[in-house]
Amino acid sequence: MSVTDLGEGVEITFEDGKKQITPVVLGADGYRSVVRRAIAPDHPYARYAGYLVWRGLVEERTLKRPVPWPSDGGLWIEIIDGYRLVAATLPGRDGSLVPGHRQITFAWFDVHKEQLLRRTGCLTLDGHIVGSLARGMIDESVRLDLASRARAIWPEQWLEAVLTGISSPETLSGAPIAEYKPEQLVRGNLAILGDAAHVISPMTGRGLLTGMEDASTLAQLLASRNPKGSFASVLSSYEQARLPFIQGLVNHSMRISAEYRRRAGG
Ligand SMILES: Cc1cc2nc3c(=O)[nH]c(=O)nc-3n(C[C@H](O)[C@H](O)[C@H](O)COP(=O)(O)OP(=O)(O)OC[C@H]3O[C@@H](n4cnc5c(N)ncnc54)[C@H](O)[C@@H]3O)c2cc1C
Repeated sequence: MSVTDLGEGVEITFEDGKKQITPVVLGADGYRSVVRRAIAPDHPYARYAGYLVWRGLVEERTLKRPVPWPSDGGLWIEIIDGYRLVAATLPGRDGSLVPGHRQITFAWFDVHKEQLLRRTGCLTLDGHIVGSLARGMIDESVRLDLASRARAIWPEQWLEAVLTGISSPETLSGAPIAEYKPEQLVRGNLAILGDAAHVISPMTGRGLLTGMEDASTLAQLLASRNPKGSFASVLSSYEQARLPFIQGLVNHSMRISAEYRRRAGG
C-alpha cells in the first residue's frame, strides 16, 4: 500500500493495485507507517534503541505462592547486571485484588539481544526495526537461556512469576524498542499521528497518551475548520501545535535510552 499527495487530494494505492482518491489521509498506522514514508521519504523508518523488552502476563493462581506485594497495585523496578525488571500486580480477570487471584505483569529490558533480532529478521543491517518477537515465536533455547539468567539475577519475590511467564511460548513476547524523531508531521493533505508520528521508549510511559493527544488536537482543529478553507491548512496548524512537544519528547526518550544502555553496558 502507498499514498501520494496530489495537491487537490490524496491517491491511495492498495496492495491489489486498486486506487482511490480521497481529500485527506491521516496515518495512525503505527511504528512502520506507510503514510510516514510518503511524508518523510528520506527519513521513513524508526531506529533500534539498543534494547528489547520481554513481556509476560501471568495468572497468580498458577504460581505455588502468591506474590508478596500489596494488593493495591504498585510498581517494582530493579536493574541488575544491566538488565532491568519492571513488575506489578494487576487485578485478576474477574477484578479480584485478593493475593492468589490477581495477574502479574512484567517487562524485562535486555540490551544483549541484537544478534537474535538480526537472526530473526526483526532488525535490518542498517539498524531499523521491521518486526517483533510475537507470542509463539520465541524458541525454546532463547527461553531456557532467559530462565537461567532470571534464576541468577531476579529476586525471589518475582522469580516464580517471571519463570512462569518465560516457560510458555504463548505468554512471552519480545518487543524491540525503536525510536523515531519526526522532522515533519504533515505533507500537503497527509498527516501522521501516534506511533506513526513518533516512536519512543516505554520507559517514558507516554507513547499511547501522546498519540491520544495528537488525535484530540487534530479532531478539535478539524471540527472548527472553516468549511471554505483547505484541509492542508488545518493539517499545517496540527503540525505547528504538536511538533515541538513531540521532538522534545523523542529527545527525552533518546536520553533515557542512552542512560539505560550506559548503565547496562550495552
Ligand atoms: C513494550 C512496550 C511497552 C509500552 N508501554 C507503554 C506504557 O506504559 N504507556 C504508554 O502510554 N505507552 C506504552 N507503549 C507505547 C504504546 O503501546 C504505543 O505508543 C501505542 O500502542 C501506539 O498506538 P498507535 O495506535 O499509534 O499505533 P499501534 O498500536 O501500532 O496501532 C497501529 C494500527 O495500525 C494498523 N495498521 C498498520 N498498517 C496499516 C495499514 N497499512 N492499513 C491499515 N491498518 C494498518 C496496525 O495493524 C495497528 O492496529 C509501550 C510500547 C511497548 C512496545
